[in-house]
Amino acid sequence: MSLKYCQGPECHTHKTKDRIKGMQGSKTYQTRRRSSFYYGNDNFCSLNCQNDWFNKYGDQAIDHYGRATEAKHLTQDNAWSKEYDWNSDYNNRQYIYVNGITKEQRPLTEEQYRDKSYTLNTGE
Ligand SMILES: [Zn+2]
Repeated sequence: MSLKYCQGPECHTHKTKDRIKGMQGSKTYQTRRRSSFYYGNDNFCSLNCQNDWFNKYGDQAIDHYGRATEAKHLTQDNAWSKEYDWNSDYNNRQYIYVNGITKEQRPLTEEQYRDKSYTLNTGE
């Protein structure tokens, strides 16, 4: 199992006992290292560290990937969302596509439900 570091730029400054590492006499607070993390797509050990990253790099990231300069619109062409019937039996779950604008429902197979690239949406 490979370990990776928390990407929080200030992780080592959040003083918790589990961050103290090193040889006796030269111990320091260090960036957390784990096989997986709960936050920010498995990149951050805590919401604090995720927020630290955004505070330091967020504006650059938004500028890099493109700042929103106009409103997006939810229309019948991009309002499809995958759902399943919470009342259906767990072993025979009924999956559906629901249009959030027209309320139209269409049946979905479980495979289509789990396939992140499968969509009826034709716009953003
Ligand atoms: Zn961290």
